[in-house]
Amino acid sequence: MKENTAVLNCRVDLIDKDNALSLVKKSIEEKKNFQIITINPEMIMNAQNDLSFLNIVNSSDLNIVDGIGVKIALKFQKINQNQIRGVDFSRSLVELASKNSYRIAFLGAKEEVIQKTKENFLQQYPNLNIVYLRNGYFKNDEEIMNEIISSNPQILLVGLGSPKQEEIISKLKTKLNGCTMVGVGGSFDVFSGIVKESPEIYRKLGLEWLYRTVKQPERFKRIFPTMPIFLIKCIIDTMKKKG
Ligand code: UDP
Repeated sequence: MKENTAVLNCRVDLIDKDNALSLVKKSIEEKKNFQIITINPEMIMNAQNDLSFLNIVNSSDLNIVDGIGVKIALKFQKINQNQIRGVDFSRSLVELASKNSYRIAFLGAKEEVIQKTKENFLQQYPNLNIVYLRNGYFKNDEEIMNEIISSNPQILLVGLGSPKQEEIISKLKTKLNGCTMVGVGGSFDVFSGIVKESPEIYRKLGLEWLYRTVKQPERFKRIFPTMPIFLIKCIIDTMKKKG
């Protein structure tokens, strides 16, 4: 059984990457649908003002700790939890699909990005069974969802940014048949090679956000003021709970 806690009313599961991957394998074998959220401070802050998103977060099957902000918030609760980086986790799902011949589907990012992602993955995993691939710029959600349902994937990676990716996954959750679904944010941009992955030293120090902000300065407004407000809210919440 996995343990969990809550950060500002959002459930966070305390699980490492290997155990998370075992749960994925088990649910695919048992033909159960399984929604995974790689939870970060932006999502938790969004859930504070959007009850329907809060509901999606708390009814997801697994919320893994992505991002240094949530790791720090857990430290306030005296919990030491390693981050599972969204990009690493998605890569492991692709590897799992290749090893077990699972049907995999990709939705999201720009057309050239998703095509390059496919090319790169097929080079690395020539037997990867990609049953569906679509860029993330579309108008008719229903049409795309129907195409995905017809392709009957066992693993679905959705990179549309949050909350859109989590919303579409939560709609698909009742319609697919034994599929693990995860929102991967900008991971396809990294897999395609179009956005460079942060160097290991930044990742080790938990400074990936700094590297990404320097490389894409337009991300600055996503971190500030969200991140400091998130941390202050978490401190206040922990103090309240202590009485
Ligand atoms: N995106 C998309 N459709 C949209 C808006 C965004 O496919 O309508 C893609 C975009 O191309 C990028 C990803 O969604 O690949 C969003 O990445 P972001 O940097 O927001 O995600 P993060 O990694 O920060 O969660």
